[in-house]
Amino acid sequence: MIKKPVIDKTFEMDLNHTYLQYRRMKIVATIGPATQSPRMLKKLISAGLNVARINFSHGEASEHVKVMADIRKAAQQLDKSVAILADLCGPKIRVGKFKNDFISLKENSVITITTDSLTGDDGLIPSQYKRLAKEVKTGETILLDDGNLELKVVKVVDDRNLKARVIRGGVLKNNKGMNLPFTNMKISALTDKDKRDVRFAIEGGADYIGLSFVRSPEDIRDLRKLLRKLGAENKHIIAKIEKPEALDNIGEIIKLSDGIMVARGDLGVELPAKKVPLIQNKLIQLSNHDNKPVIVATQMLESMISNSRPTRAEVTDVAGACQAGADAVMLSGETAVGKYPIEAVEMMDSILRETEAYQFFSQKGKFTKAAPDLNGELHEAIGTSIAQLSRDLMVRSVLVMSRSGYSARLISADRPAAPILALVQDEQVRRRLNLLWGVYPFPIKKGYDIKDVPAYGEKLIKKLKLGQKDDFLLLLAGLTEQVTPTNSILIHRIS
Ligand code: PGA
Ligand code: MN
Repeated sequence: MIKKPVIDKTFEMDLNHTYLQYRRMKIVATIGPATQSPRMLKKLISAGLNVARINFSHGEASEHVKVMADIRKAAQQLDKSVAILADLCGPKIRVGKFKNDFISLKENSVITITTDSLTGDDGLIPSQYKRLAKEVKTGETILLDDGNLELKVVKVVDDRNLKARVIRGGVLKNNKGMNLPFTNMKISALTDKDKRDVRFAIEGGADYIGLSFVRSPEDIRDLRKLLRKLGAENKHIIAKIEKPEALDNIGEIIKLSDGIMVARGDLGVELPAKKVPLIQNKLIQLSNHDNKPVIVATQMLESMISNSRPTRAEVTDVAGACQAGADAVMLSGETAVGKYPIEAVEMMDSILRETEAYQFFSQKGKFTKAAPDLNGELHEAIGTSIAQLSRDLMVRSVLVMSRSGYSARLISADRPAAPILALVQDEQVRRRLNLLWGVYPFPIKKGYDIKDVPAYGEKLIKKLKLGQKDDFLLLLAGLTEQVTPTNSILIHRIS
């Protein structure tokens, strides 16, 4: 008879408990001027970075390629595996430059927006989006600088100029963003700049490509097609959800992508900010249901750009994403340009660990899974069973042989009680898995014999100090995207 171990109450909130050595949620951090030196990259990785985000909205593409190489080098020197997410700019519209670097917009005044290549001045805002006057209609809203300033179109003068009334005024600086929440724009999510940047991302060895301002499934298909053309179909796509239209097509967008990002920055400009929390939770639920990873992004520890400690509201936000069942949380300006990038990662790490410890001890290993499996599919059933077994037996780890990463993703989505150690042959698959909830990838030699896996797993567990004699492990092998008769779940007791 297998005896069911119980969680000793003395372990309550013992953050050093073996079960909690591995943080389940993952940290994505944006690399920028504050962190791109080899010294800072190493510090970030040591502090717990799992995915390095390169933001192609800023800087030179060739510089990004160099930073990506430095990330690889730093990870290698620390013997850690880190994924790289190359985040494309997408059709982000910006205003141009002003004669004195900024202008003041007075409420109720009427100004001109032009797509001619002009320098802006009082009453004149240049826009880089050439089709603006062709697509915007009278009465529509134009938001500037993350929604801080608001205009209403009063007249489309010709196909290059329009007049707009200032609804909410203020100072407008060079190159600030422009959002058109109600305009039906013809521009593709994959711009010409993005197409060039994709090549740089591939050259730099990115594992994930982030597609900004996705509106339709077609946007994902376009990027997938381009990747195939460039012989880079092994790059995975993260759809950034930041347009209202994306929400109308969300089911198919999630299905076609390899994961999504709740891009709260632009989402909260395109939609009223009050809508963001509920949409965030819905997106987590939908991704979870589809076994796809979901990243919660933007302003998570925003005040740490200039302060060494976050606000309590920010801490609560990070813990909330954890409670809601996200796979990962993201830092943007905090690590790209902030004064306390390492502290921000450490802070995130500690909030996640605390929240996970609570979930673990108070719910007997039942981490949040946002959506239950209801579809009675074989693979779903395997994932659910593994999660259940992991809790019933309080296993020390779930070892999964994963060729493409598919099995690891499936198991991860069911949130088992123990860390998922994915044994992978392919280096890119290994790196990619760093984004997934609870998954820690380890290399395994090609041509291994399935019979040797239990012994291999036992050795690895002992080496990682995750378990000892008589502890249980779960082993899963043979799960592929096609249903095969070779699926097997093995319950192994360490000898
Ligand atoms: P960005 O995307 O940082 O590239 O704008 C994230 C967001 O909009 O929240
Ligand atoms: Mn955005």
